[in-house]
Amino acid sequence: MDRIVLITGGGTGIGYAVAARFATEGATVYITGRRKEILDKRAADLGDGVRTLPCDNTDPDQLIAAAAELPDHIDVLVNNAGGNTDFDAPSENGLHAVASRWSTNLNANLLSAVLTTHAVGDRLTSGGSVIHIGSIAADQGAGSYGAAKAGLASWNIDLAQEFGPREITCNVVAPGYIRDTEFFRDKLTAERVDFLIDRTFTGRAGVPTDIAETVYFLASSGARHITGQVINVNGGAHTVR
Ligand code: NDP
Repeated sequence: MDRIVLITGGGTGIGYAVAARFATEGATVYITGRRKEILDKRAADLGDGVRTLPCDNTDPDQLIAAAAELPDHIDVLVNNAGGNTDFDAPSENGLHAVASRWSTNLNANLLSAVLTTHAVGDRLTSGGSVIHIGSIAADQGAGSYGAAKAGLASWNIDLAQEFGPREITCNVVAPGYIRDTEFFRDKLTAERVDFLIDRTFTGRAGVPTDIAETVYFLASSGARHITGQVINVNGGAHTVR
């Protein structure tokens, strides 16, 4: 039977590459995002198997409405929506500004995954998978963004334990620098790009398909005993034992 796949933030960058990978196998893929026009365009690019679900994954009411549009079973959930919201925030130092910046990043990267998983968790099928997109920043410090991604990895352990008896695996894929996405807005200098590439052993930037292939593997029959883990995809820029 064709798989049902839900990908948050599936209209651009990594999420779009993940959607394209699952669409290639013939899965029915639902992509979320706040910009309906982007979703419509990208879904049309990928063909009939891809459906759009415009919503803000940090908003419980919007998620309840979106969940009502989904089928009664889901095989794969990819919590990809997020990004470093500090790029769009004023860098004021007052306590209110700090509170706002932190809660925005925690909401975008941690709460979005928690709420989406709660919204559809009962529908996940035995043999299914939950995959969150974390970040190298979780281990290297990056203010509220790194803290949010570290929190995602911690919460994933609970989730893996909870879903394990249902034969559902839960993992984090933690990318290093991935080019060709909207993540950095236009704020990455050529010098910074060179620095990020110099840190890799592979001598290149990551691309969205590097992450999509890893997500696809974690959702495959060959990965049924991998759960509760963080899989780093960063060209060696950060190594773990
Ligand atoms: P993009 O900005 O291209 O993708 C982020 C996507 O998430 C967008 O499609 C955006 O759409 C969507 N999104 C953001 N917030 C919400 C929300 N509240 N509700 C619904 N959708 C949302 O960047 P990437 O593809 O690079 O990022 C994907 C993931 O990878 C993120 O979690 C990011 O933190 C992570 N990552 C990226 C790295 C990189 O170098 N690119 C490195 C490490 C991790 P819209 O704005 O329309 O809602």
